[in-house]
Amino acid sequence: MSRAPAIDVLVIGSGAAGLAAAVSAERAGGRVALATKTTLQANNSSKAQGGIQAAFAEDDSPEQHAEDVHRSSHGTADPALVEVLTSEARSAISWLEELGCGFTRENGGYRLARCGGASRRRLLQVGDRTGHAITKALRERHEAGEAETLAHHRLESLEPDDVGWRATFATPQGTSTVAAGAVVLASGGRCYAEAGHRGELSTNHPNATGETTRIALDAGAESRDLDALQYHPNGGAWPPTMQGYSIPETTRSYGAVLLNAEGEEFTDSLGPRDEVSQAIFDEVEAGRGVATEDGRPAVWLDTTRIPPADADVSLPYMLRRYRGSGIDPLAESILTYPVLHYQNGGLVIDTRAETTLEGVYACGEIAGGTHGRNRMMGNSLLECVVFGRRAGKAATEKATS
Ligand SMILES: Cc1cc2nc3c(=O)[nH]c(=O)nc-3n(C[C@H](O)[C@H](O)[C@H](O)COP(=O)(O)OP(=O)(O)OC[C@H]3O[C@@H](n4cnc5c(N)ncnc54)[C@H](O)[C@@H]3O)c2cc1C
Repeated sequence: MSRAPAIDVLVIGSGAAGLAAAVSAERAGGRVALATKTTLQANNSSKAQGGIQAAFAEDDSPEQHAEDVHRSSHGTADPALVEVLTSEARSAISWLEELGCGFTRENGGYRLARCGGASRRRLLQVGDRTGHAITKALRERHEAGEAETLAHHRLESLEPDDVGWRATFATPQGTSTVAAGAVVLASGGRCYAEAGHRGELSTNHPNATGETTRIALDAGAESRDLDALQYHPNGGAWPPTMQGYSIPETTRSYGAVLLNAEGEEFTDSLGPRDEVSQAIFDEVEAGRGVATEDGRPAVWLDTTRIPPADADVSLPYMLRRYRGSGIDPLAESILTYPVLHYQNGGLVIDTRAETTLEGVYACGEIAGGTHGRNRMMGNSLLECVVFGRRAGKAATEKATS
């Protein structure tokens, strides 16, 4: 005889994807619990600065957006997932606005920037704290609802149960188990841990360690492209306080260009991420890089070309960080080098965000396919919201059917 679960949907992770899933699951009528490794605020999503893509410009369309994703992924992205991502982008933005996230506007519309690999201006921003604004709006809505929050719950295992799935957690009080009709895995990527293994810098939050992916694989889930890790072309290289900081791609959207030691441009500064990162690696390898004072490889990012008015609106946090470290990016170029940033691949999902395990959903950086082997900037936050919403709704439907 099967027991009725105390909750319908168990969400693992409190980044943009998990919060979107939890809010969406509750709206669909599910009894929801959200478990997270440390605090609700601890995640990569809050650190995202640059923006979120959605085709709002007059010369743009979801189809154009999809074409850019396929080109940037070199044909490796899943067409069905890309179609969902790009066609639901505008409604995802409206949903975020309804939750209280105010995107930067100008001239009666959104302020849109062109990001690397994009053929149109498509990047919406909230200054340069876009991820912070999105997660804050989602978190506040989650906290205002009925869903339970299980902070300091680190997922340790996931097993089938007679009511659905049973999750086991490590907590400060000891081991705890939770049964649910359906589970949404939204625990992000593994680049913090991977950078540690490689002895490299990473832009990621220390909670980005990837154990949930391994737990899902142990439970029988399938994955794709897990070896495809992305370097952000512009990690901060100097001063030491900025090492590992991700210099927003919007610096390049608003006019900054990459220069070698001779002051020459050596690549299209707004090319796809993998191509820009590779061009920097190659330039340094060829002896045309610059060494930082502590001997790290770097090239210049000429940020003095950014008009101060654009920097004031779209890069205030970056300016504050650098000026606080003694460098004014509008008066002098800054040193940069690629840094480990994003897990392109992940668990295989379908368009309802269900993994290959029935009743287990995945959204955000833990899922694979939407970006293929090379993600465009601004599509990760979008993926979190679009597939988080889908996962939450589908999980409630599964658990209550
Ligand atoms: C510095 C930086 C800048 C970025 N800028 C942009 C940008 O401008 N635009 C864009 O689209 N993308 C950007 N990204 C990428 C994007 O922010 C992330 O890929 C995305 O937010 C990931 O969201 P997520 O919800 O999947 O995971 P996360 O936000 O990383 O959340 C994962 C959650 O799972 C929890 N967790 C992990 N393991 C466990 C476990 N075992 N048990 C329980 N909980 C667990 C974590 O504590 C966390 O709460 C940026 C990333 C970084 C790091």
